[in-house]
Amino acid sequence: HAKREQAGEPIWFESWMSEEYRESVVLESELREAIARNELQLFYQPQVNLKTKEVDGCEALLRWFHPERGMISPAVFIPIAERSILIEEIGMWVVQESVNQVRRWEGTPLGSMRVSANLSVKELVSGRIVEFLTDVRDRYPGIEQRMELEITESFGVFSDTRVFDALQTLHRLGYRLAIDDFGTGYSSLSYLSRLPIQRLKIDRSFISGDDACSNAPLIETIIRLAHTLKYDVVAEGIEQAEQGESLRKLDCEYGQGFYYSRPIPPDEFEIWYDRYQEESKQSG
Ligand code: C2E
Ligand code: MG
Ligand code: MG
Ligand code: MG
Repeated sequence: HAKREQAGEPIWFESWMSEEYRESVVLESELREAIARNELQLFYQPQVNLKTKEVDGCEALLRWFHPERGMISPAVFIPIAERSILIEEIGMWVVQESVNQVRRWEGTPLGSMRVSANLSVKELVSGRIVEFLTDVRDRYPGIEQRMELEITESFGVFSDTRVFDALQTLHRLGYRLAIDDFGTGYSSLSYLSRLPIQRLKIDRSFISGDDACSNAPLIETIIRLAHTLKYDVVAEGIEQAEQGESLRKLDCEYGQGFYYSRPIPPDEFEIWYDRYQEESKQSG
């Protein structure tokens, strides 16, 4: 046995545990403290209307600034948080902080900006986040129109009635819903057509690095499918101007990616937005 004291909680390591697993147990216990220690922050990435070039929405992406390890990617710590109810605490923090940001932007040039927050399917299953979002809507009337919730598609999740019911409730509350990473999770078409959603986000694996446009037929099929179901489409992972241009020609409504901006802190986002507005005015 090796014992590590972390935030007062003893952690026991057994000899059968892999190095990777031990590491994740340490991270998990540090993550428990991260909210209280103000180590979490939301970055924002613009979503650009490919036809009008307007930006009326952005995605909130979580960052963990660890005092020793520096910035840790959500791709690393969200799966760890999902192993326990920690993901619920994080989800509520993300929703509250997104709401705070919407309210901070009220009365500024970004006053009509919609913020899209990511929610884990694990949270929808427990139902606590649905209660929280119900409460948020009561506390801030009209906030639901400024918010969108992104749920990642993964195998079979939408056939889970708890997930389906949670989405239904959020829809009735007036929140906009989007399916994230579409095309990677094998949603059954029959469920897809019944989901109370407004938007599909095409996974960036179809877009980024597709210089030869070899995915174009596939992308076009996804866009047609979305439109048949009356959903609009956001393409993720646009890194070059030409990718945005060909997506626009395929009738894709929105684009998101490093070509427009990386995810950045809110003050930088305001500066980016100002400059973007100036540039679009000049180019007509
Ligand atoms: P996602 O929701 O699909 O977010 C898009 C990811 O693609 C982000 O990675 C973003 O930085 C990255 N990205 C955007 N444009 C480009 C591009 O042009 N090229 C490339 N290569 N990448 C691009 P990030 O921020 O590391 O987030 C990874 C994933 O972590 C997210 O994927 C989402 O599933 C999850 N995540 C992030 N924030 C949250 C959160 O607040 N709650 C939950 N539950 N999950 C979150
Ligand atoms: Mg997302
Ligand atoms: Mg995605
Ligand atoms: Mg994702």
